[in-house]
Amino acid sequence: MRAKLVAGNWKLNGSLAENQALLKAILPPLALLKGADFAVCVPFPYLAQAQQALQGQTVALGAQDVCQFESGAYTGGVSAAMIADFGCRYAIVGHSERRSVFGDTDEIVAEKFAAVMKQGMTPILCVGETLAEREGGVTETVVARQLDAVVKRNGIAALGKSVIAYEPVWAIGTGRTASPEQAQAVHAYIRERVGAAERLPILYGGSVKAGNAAQLFAMADVDGGLIGGASLVAEEFVAICRAAAGAKDRVTV
Ligand code: PEP
Repeated sequence: MRAKLVAGNWKLNGSLAENQALLKAILPPLALLKGADFAVCVPFPYLAQAQQALQGQTVALGAQDVCQFESGAYTGGVSAAMIADFGCRYAIVGHSERRSVFGDTDEIVAEKFAAVMKQGMTPILCVGETLAEREGGVTETVVARQLDAVVKRNGIAALGKSVIAYEPVWAIGTGRTASPEQAQAVHAYIRERVGAAERLPILYGGSVKAGNAAQLFAMADVDGGLIGGASLVAEEFVAICRAAAGAKDRVTV
């Protein structure tokens, strides 16, 4: 059985003082939870702070995004080797906010995926459709295109060693969550597309809260969550992690 993973995506939030308070609140309860893995993906300037706080803890460190280039004249870029220096296990690539606001194409995402893998870290590859695409009936086509670009650059075996996060764009930060059945349908499609990858963790992301996490995590192909807003609220994040640790009964639809 695949272990559940819950990863917090702090996005463009936090300060030294706020991070300290948040980590102080979440680490002791998470240390007591067995049966699931946890991570926090923090802004670049706080990697050192989080690395220090997570020493000896059960929560892994991740970065949000990475530059596709290794070094050179790329002002503002942060390379995969740099984040590896801070002990990151994960890096989020292909988040819909990077795709829509910062212009990351499928090909750029594939390069970022390659850069993360090359440094021995695990990419958390985000895929997902917009509301117009869902209503147009092309959810699977869009997700397939996003996956295929990564496969074309990195090979199917590399994709099988990553973490995929299905994040419908219409559910991110909107308070509107995919139903467990909607999530399960796309997750099953992704698993099949990646070649019936039984060990591949596929997370769901999009307005996951303490109140809906257990139902989502109970689905057969939902292996945990990528959590944005709720990862900044200690009680919410801990409750979501508890739901993951307790999600034993898988529902197949
Ligand atoms: C995200 O940014 O990855 C995300 C899922 O955000 P939220 O949980 O706030 O919808």
